[in-house]
Amino acid sequence: MGNLTGKTALVTGASRGIGRAVAERLAGDGALVAVHYATSAQAAARVASGIKERGGSAFTVQAALGVPGDVDTLFTGLETGLKEHNDGRMELDILVNNAGIMGGSAPEETTPEQFDRLVAVNAKAPFFVIQRALRAMPDGGRIVNISSGLTRFANPQEIAYAMTKSAVEMLALHYAKHLGPRGITVNSVAPGITRNSNPIFDQPQVVEQLAALSVFNRVGEPSDVADVVAFLASDEARWITGAFIDSSGGTLAN
Ligand code: NAP
Repeated sequence: MGNLTGKTALVTGASRGIGRAVAERLAGDGALVAVHYATSAQAAARVASGIKERGGSAFTVQAALGVPGDVDTLFTGLETGLKEHNDGRMELDILVNNAGIMGGSAPEETTPEQFDRLVAVNAKAPFFVIQRALRAMPDGGRIVNISSGLTRFANPQEIAYAMTKSAVEMLALHYAKHLGPRGITVNSVAPGITRNSNPIFDQPQVVEQLAALSVFNRVGEPSDVADVVAFLASDEARWITGAFIDSSGGTLAN
């Protein structure tokens, strides 16, 4: 029995990277996890089947976020999965807004279309996912939004991305107050450089440079961030809300 036994969780962008690690960790703690993805159906299916092989519970949910109808598609899939896997109990106890895209273009070259896309996926979608999730979330629920150390650490190539992450951090502050009476906590977790499937992590020289940004002189692993999210999702974090949790391996102190 894990500390999340009997709970349900939705992790957006859980087909790979940090979201995958969060889904696996929450399932390891006992939650029934909805593994959300946009295009990587096979990868998401592998995440869900891996969880089940280890004795956990999971199902996949497809929805492209940042496009019209995204929230309806996501919650239709979630509700179908909950009906099937949770004996008809439709409540959502834990929401992790993790899905996101980076910018990677110089400020002079960022187009209005690129900017709108970043806002749509990274900021607008989490806002409306929360709005919809709250209909299904019982008192004592948990919301964690994945931000970025780039709201505190300058990288001019990522101004537009960092702006969207600053926007996402506002969800914790204001929703914490709004949802306090229901005992629902809302927090931001801000990773630093974290290994994902980006090919740059296959280049030892690049990894060495990125590692130097952390006071621990290594890049983050998805599980480093997942452990922080799992703590915030647990009952032990009931007194933490509206918080910004730096999960960058001390990059902001470096
Ligand atoms: P990743 O490996 O690139 O995975 C992104 C996930 O988000 C995938 O599951 C992807 O689904 C999903 N996704 C992307 N665009 C989507 C869309 N439009 N609609 C729905 N789903 C979408 O990402 P990551 O590096 O683990 O990052 C996860 C979160 O942490 C992001 O919010 C990112 O900004 C933040 N972060 C990451 C780092 C880092 O160094 N990795 C640092 C700071 C913050 P598909 O696979 O189906 O495309």
